[in-house]
Parts: sequence; C-alpha cells; structure tokens
Amino acid sequence: MMHRVVIIGSGFGGLFAAQALRKAPVEITLVAKTTHHLFQPLLYQVATGILSPGEIAPATREILRHQKNARVLLGEVTEFDLAAKTVTAVVPSGEYSVEYDSLIIAVGASQSYFGNDHFAQFAPGMKSIDDALELRGRIFSSFELAELSDDATEIDRLMTFVIVGAGPTGVEMAGQIAELAHRTLVSDFRKINTRATRVILLDAAPAMLGNFGKRLSDKAKLQLERLGVEVRLGAKVVGIDHKGLDIKESDNTPHRIEASCKIWAAGVMANPLTKTIAAQSGAQLDSVGRILVEPDCSLPGHPEIFVIGDMMALNHLPSVAQVAIQGGRHSAKQIIKRLKGDQSRTPFEYKDKGSMVTVSRFYAIASVGKIRTAGIGAWLIWLGVHITYMIGFKHRVTTLLHWAVSFVGTGRAERVITEQQVIARSAIERLGDRVPNPYNANKDLE
Ligand SMILES: Cc1cc2nc3c(=O)[nH]c(=O)nc-3n(C[C@H](O)[C@H](O)[C@H](O)COP(=O)(O)OP(=O)(O)OC[C@H]3O[C@@H](n4cnc5c(N)ncnc54)[C@H](O)[C@@H]3O)c2cc1C
Repeated sequence: MMHRVVIIGSGFGGLFAAQALRKAPVEITLVAKTTHHLFQPLLYQVATGILSPGEIAPATREILRHQKNARVLLGEVTEFDLAAKTVTAVVPSGEYSVEYDSLIIAVGASQSYFGNDHFAQFAPGMKSIDDALELRGRIFSSFELAELSDDATEIDRLMTFVIVGAGPTGVEMAGQIAELAHRTLVSDFRKINTRATRVILLDAAPAMLGNFGKRLSDKAKLQLERLGVEVRLGAKVVGIDHKGLDIKESDNTPHRIEASCKIWAAGVMANPLTKTIAAQSGAQLDSVGRILVEPDCSLPGHPEIFVIGDMMALNHLPSVAQVAIQGGRHSAKQIIKRLKGDQSRTPFEYKDKGSMVTVSRFYAIASVGKIRTAGIGAWLIWLGVHITYMIGFKHRVTTLLHWAVSFVGTGRAERVITEQQVIARSAIERLGDRVPNPYNANKDLE
C-alpha cells in the first residue's frame, strides 16, 4: 500500500508541504476548513478595497489539480487518535475520519484579545477572508453613515478609525485607511470632508515595529504621520464598546476615544487544536500556546507527526510565512528520506529571507540580510516578493492591475460591501446552534 500522508491546513505550511511531495511515492490527503489557500499578508488590501478576495485566496483544489498524488478534502479537524493514527474532521453534513502513516499539522494561529474576548465583536481582527470583508463593510459604511448624519459629534465618531496594535498589520492597515480617506474618497462625498478623517494607531508598547530596529521604526512612524495618522504609543486599551474605546496612557491617565470603527491587530495565539494535540501526546506549549517540537519539527514521541508554521515553537522562530513555507518543505523532505530507508532526523534550519512592511503607496521599510532600507526602494522589494509568492499567473496579473489602479491612480476597484458581510457574523454568533443547516436536511433546526 502507498504511504499515506495527511496534511491539515491549506495555508503556507500545508500547501508548500503538499507541493514538495509532488514527486514522492505517497498518497496525500490535504484536509482544511477553508477551500482556499489564503495569502494573509495581503488581507488588509481586501479590507481597504484594493484587492478582491479571489486574488489572495485561490482555490486549493485548483492549485493542486495537476498533482495527481494529492486530494483535497474540506473539513475542520476536531480530533486526533495518535495511537490509531486517524484524524477526524467535521463538515456541515457530518464527520469523517482519515488514516495516516505520516501527518503534517499546519493549522496556523488565531487572534488573541489577551483575555478580553468580548472586545472581538466591537473590534474584529484580521485572520480570514470573512474578517477582511467584515472590516471592509465597517470601514466603507462608516463614511456612508457620516454622509447621512447631521450631528457633528456623530460625524466625528463615524470618521474616527482606531487600529489597535502597531505591528506590521496595524501599520499597513493604518496607512491604507489614511490613503483611502485622504486621497481616494475625497471627491466621492458631497457633505463630509473625508480629509478630516482621523486614523489613530495605538499600541501599549513604547515603540512600533520593534523587530525592525529604531531607525526604520522611526522612519515608518514619520511616514504614517505625514499621511495624517496619529500614532499613540504606550497607550493600553482597557475597554471597547460599540461607541468607542477606553485607554490608559503610560502614566496611567485614562482616556476615551469615540470611534465607530475599531480594528484589532494586536495579538496572536496558537490554534486551539494545539491543546487537543498536547493533551494526547503530552507535548508542552509555550506562552502563546504553540507546541514545543523536536529539532526536526516532529511532535515529541511521534516522529511520524510534524507540527509546522504558526503552531510550532522552535528556537524562538517568529510566526511568519517563511517559517511555515520552509517548515512545510522540511517535513516533506524528512518523509521522502525515511521512505528511502534513512531514519536519521535532520534538524530544521531556518533561512531568514528578511521582513518588510508597506506604510503607504511607494513607501515601505525592509530589512533583508544586512540591508536596512526605507522608501521606494523598499517598496519595490516588497512588490517583487509579494508577486513572487502569490500563487497563479492570472492572480499576479489582476493583482498588478489592481495595484496600478490604486497606487498610480487614485481608485479602489473592490469597494463592494454587502449587508451580510457587516452583520452576518454577529447574527450567527447570537443564534449559536440554532442556525439552520442548509447542507443536511436531517440535522436541521429542531
Ligand atoms: C493579517 C496578517 C498579515 C500577515 N503579514 C505577514 C507578512 O507580511 N509577512 C509574513 O511573513 N507573515 C505575515 N503574516 C503571518 C503569516 O501569514 C503566517 O505566519 C502564515 O500564514 C502561517 O502559515 P501556517 O501554514 O502556519 O498557517 P495559515 O497560513 O494560517 O494556515 C492555516 C490553515 O489551517 C486551516 N485550519 C485551521 N484550523 C483548522 C482545523 N481545525 N481543521 C482543518 N483546517 C484548519 C486554515 O483554514 C488554513 O488553511 C501575516 C498574518 C496575518 C494574519
């Protein structure tokens, strides 16, 4: 019988592992709870109307259509039986199990509200296409409602956008909302002056983009301020509600900001599935819930299971796309090596290819090898890297066209918002188990 490899997750780790096994004598089953491969670094551009969801989330089965040793199954994995070597997944129509000889787990991370999960309904995070579309709905709706209001205080509230978390995602989001308000939308409204929009970027830490060093971080801050973003560091969010948020400055002074649209870009924690795996295997978790793996990325006591990407804790590696991509390729190589009879375990060696953040059109900061640069040069590096890692020729072409529309021109081609995007998640959460199941008439509402 052919060696069965089950891969969980179609993100950077899972997809690159599957592709690295394309010539191997294995039968691959890739199980993921979404039908697409999501390019998370560009989610903020979906949220701000630059790109369409399809451009950053091509269908996984389309990507793997020519790889005959791989099949793709929809399913949210909920259980493992490490002794029987099975994985159980649920879908709206029921559940199923798959058996494995080797298992690669790459289910990524979730948003962390640092114990304040009730903040989520007022300040959504950005981890999925649903999140990005909901945020797009909230951002564009705020301007629409402001145009309709006659109350100056309410208009100010609607035109105040607060982004919590001054890491790469927060910085990119703040820059894009500022460009949207101060550049793209200026001629579109008759009553409101979108140039008066306030974009506030908050962080409890005293510095932003700490990993880039002080010089680049200061340059990014200056560029944001040039765009009209208010950067408030040392400001901790202590409360969020429908109308705004409460913060405590570094000297403990309380402060209130009235804002309709709040975006959470502050924290990340490992996928809850790590707890299930730890409970069965006895593996240890780090402070953000990632699994401490062996040097070859395998689960302690289970050399046949690899845990990679954002859910893996190894040598203090960051939770970034390259760690997941290289982890996926590394685990594929280990499986191929073992099938050839070599049971040695090669430690994972991460090659840091650098990091970059776009602040605005034509302005990024980049730290690649010894190069530390800011401005248009860094932006061109950013452009090249993102186009290279996007999947599919046609997605690259349409993305470049959309970028031309937004960065060379002043437009945003993807401004569609629907009622469902804005309100559906809250409605579904409120209904809980009472949501009718359209896929399975037998399991419908009682
Ligand atoms: C907004 C944002 C911006 C980012 N920007 C950058 C950047 O600029 N540069 C950079 O290097 N990194 C960036 N990252 C981080 C990067 O995207 C992650 O490090 C990377 O995606 C991790 O890959 P992964 O395969 O571990 O997980 P993911 O890519 O998150 O994939 C997880 C997969 O698992 C699936 N899944 C989850 N739970 C289950 C389950 N129970 N059952 C089945 N399937 C499941 C998901 O559907 C998904 O397919 C960013 C992340 C975010 C959220």
